Amino acid sequence: MNTDLPGTVWFVGAGPGDPELITVKGQKLLAQAGAVLFAGSLVDRAATAYAPEGCDIRDSKDMTLEEMTEWLVTRAARHGTVVRLQTGDPSLYGALIEMARPLDAAGVPWRVVPGVSSAMAAMAAAGESMTLPEVTQSVILTRVAGRTPMPEGEDLAALAAHHTTMCIFLSITLLHKVEAALREAGWPEDAPMLVVHKASWPGEELILRGTLADIKQRCREAGVVSQAMIVASPTLGSRHWETLVRSKLYDPTFTHRFRKATA
Ligand code: SAH
Repeated sequence: MNTDLPGTVWFVGAGPGDPELITVKGQKLLAQAGAVLFAGSLVDRAATAYAPEGCDIRDSKDMTLEEMTEWLVTRAARHGTVVRLQTGDPSLYGALIEMARPLDAAGVPWRVVPGVSSAMAAMAAAGESMTLPEVTQSVILTRVAGRTPMPEGEDLAALAAHHTTMCIFLSITLLHKVEAALREAGWPEDAPMLVVHKASWPGEELILRGTLADIKQRCREAGVVSQAMIVASPTLGSRHWETLVRSKLYDPTFTHRFRKATA
């Protein structure tokens, strides 16, 4: 690039692991990138599969925030397109704002390309739905407190009191805390639970089903200690229910903008 203006840093969601789950836009940006900074082993396949030959590719796993910023700013001075490749969607637990603010300060433009979050990939893997008519119409994306504390009012027991679908990130080693919170919120011992390890990873995905009472044991037996999505939801297993309330949209007795009721 022979321009004096800095290039743009694109925060691109790489998706949950399957390189084919990056968006078309994300793939196109990678293909034209002069430099790619990727976040650890989860997304290296997409980076190496789609970046052009000669692209400056770096894994950020051993870098501090300051080092990453410096790397991105210097690359943006040399290349029109710089990609920061992140797992899932960049807006979820991705340190996006921490990385973007120094770019603002340095006068480097940045944009975001959304990605398929692992929460969605876990549900897809298991053939489950986050929402069901008259069962739950809300989803909570959260985590339990680890080294990062939870802000006031967001402890898992308080959130679980809504009895809606909960996708719990970053918490597989703290499954005992998840269970305690669900019990405190009144979820029964036979409440269905789902854990998906490496959702969408070709050949490595593991789907574990259980209940509040036994999911921890199942994870232990399967040796799942990382890269896992925990889902607690009243919708789990609904494909096997005897009765199901149908969506109004496809109900023959329901008229809407695009279809008149036929029954
Ligand atoms: N931005 C990412 C989340 C990053 S935080 C997203 O939108 O998915 C990292 C956490 O995400 C992990 O602890 C795990 O809970 C979850 N995760 C990421 N990739 C996953 C995958 N392929 N399968 C299951 N969980 C995954």
